Amino acid sequence: MQLLEERIRRDGNIKPGNVLKVDSFLNHQMDVELFNEMGKEFRRLFPSEKINKILTIEASGIGIACSAAQYFHVPVVFAKKSQSINLDGEQYVTRIESFTHKRIYDVIVSKKYLGKDDHVLIIDDFLANGCAVLGLIDLIKNAGAHVEGVGIAIEKGFQKGGSLLRDQGIRVESLAIVERMNDETGEIVFRH
Ligand code: 5GP
Repeated sequence: MQLLEERIRRDGNIKPGNVLKVDSFLNHQMDVELFNEMGKEFRRLFPSEKINKILTIEASGIGIACSAAQYFHVPVVFAKKSQSINLDGEQYVTRIESFTHKRIYDVIVSKKYLGKDDHVLIIDDFLANGCAVLGLIDLIKNAGAHVEGVGIAIEKGFQKGGSLLRDQGIRVESLAIVERMNDETGEIVFRH
């Protein structure tokens, strides 16, 4: 998606350790008009009428998921990161290792909001090693629901998440795929 690529080029900052900072329009301050265009594009890429729910993970996925939901006319559920899980059987739980924070979270979704009749589109801001998305898939499988696809704003194509998911036959659509980036020169190359 050209609009997003241009914005990453203009306002993105490459940090050591393969981290792309996009705090000025996506991860801290949010450009809602851009989100809206991204939401529209996700609908175009996933025209399936079966999708009846969008699942994301707090916090950065929520804004993008909500923008998309306006075009799918479905609810958004966000998985909650939790320090102490209340194992009362009322929720699905999985473990996710955070790429940016280098720690492990328990992540939960209430059984009230995910079930066997759900056809779920996963949406998130970044795809790196795939831990976040694999965790969400685990929650969906635990619920007996169906994964209809994965929509990502920015995929770092040089990390393993994209191929891990696509090799499992999961449809992954990323609005911008960074082929490589260099924190010393500031160079960013996108895959097309
Ligand atoms: P994964 O679980 O695929 O390794 O990483 C995805 C998650 O880590 C995303 O939800 C995102 O919040 C965060 N993340 C991974 N790489 C980056 C990055 O380069 N920049 C930012 N801002 N977040 C990232």
